[in-house]
Amino acid sequence: MVRILAVDLGGSHAACALVEDKAIIARDGITFGDGVTLEAILPEIAEVLRRLNNQHMAQGVGFGFCGLVDARNSRVSSTNGKFVDAVDLDLRAWGQNQIGLPLRLENDARLALLGECAAGAAQGETDVVMFTLGTGIGGVAMMDGRPLQGKHGQAGVLGGHVPVNFNGRKCTCGAIGCAESEASGWSLPLVCAEWPGFATSALQGREINFENVFACAAAGDRVAVEVQQHCLQVWGATAIAAVHAFDPDVLLYGGGVMKSANVVIPFIQDYVNRYAWTPWGKPTVRAAQLGNDAALLGVVPLFQQESGFVR
Ligand SMILES: [Zn+2]
Repeated sequence: MVRILAVDLGGSHAACALVEDKAIIARDGITFGDGVTLEAILPEIAEVLRRLNNQHMAQGVGFGFCGLVDARNSRVSSTNGKFVDAVDLDLRAWGQNQIGLPLRLENDARLALLGECAAGAAQGETDVVMFTLGTGIGGVAMMDGRPLQGKHGQAGVLGGHVPVNFNGRKCTCGAIGCAESEASGWSLPLVCAEWPGFATSALQGREINFENVFACAAAGDRVAVEVQQHCLQVWGATAIAAVHAFDPDVLLYGGGVMKSANVVIPFIQDYVNRYAWTPWGKPTVRAAQLGNDAALLGVVPLFQQESGFVR
């Protein structure tokens, strides 16, 4: 039996849990405002973790971070505007000093993929690409049962920043025409505002989010139908890029957009069936199962994949 404390740090919330094999046996969390530093909230996170570990059963701390992570050295290598101080923090030393346990740091999307492979929609799979379609687009790749790392620790984790349009919109990452800047929660209002006919669309005056775009599309609004089609094609093109780059058996999709999984999953499966060059067969497109728990449940395999560390 493996028991690991988990932290999944997002932009406004840190979810914490005690995970035993494939189950969360206790959970807690903290919320915080914009612009807070990681150093400022670490004492509170430590307190929550100590409380979750009140019977001292945990064997380690798995920490998921929303940025580029050098997992081999448990260091944050770059952030996209949030927790910019994290690059200078020694979280491994913090885990040892404050919790008394070895700590492993990983990118939150890689952790979510580990979780889905251990306890969710990709159990038993070894070659998987996972996309999270939400405010941004997370994309992460596993080959031969291990999340890709690469020389600088950033291989496979920038799936949302694969350019799909070199004449496109400037992305928050600095590149142009990324999948994320063409079809994600943050770029959707920009896409809609520029769409021909938007002024007379049923979307006019509504909050621009995927739920409303998909609802208006289902009701036959022309602009919503076209924007929905545009987004589906961006995600389809990104899926082909991932299939051609990483050779997966399974493409897994999570995030808020999966409220419309009944539209998104069949579209991408059809797109992959048409356009992926895969003579062995076709990758299966599936919805993820674990939602926000995926990254928490990824901490057990995170420790297990290091041979001899925890068995
Ligand atoms: Zn980008």
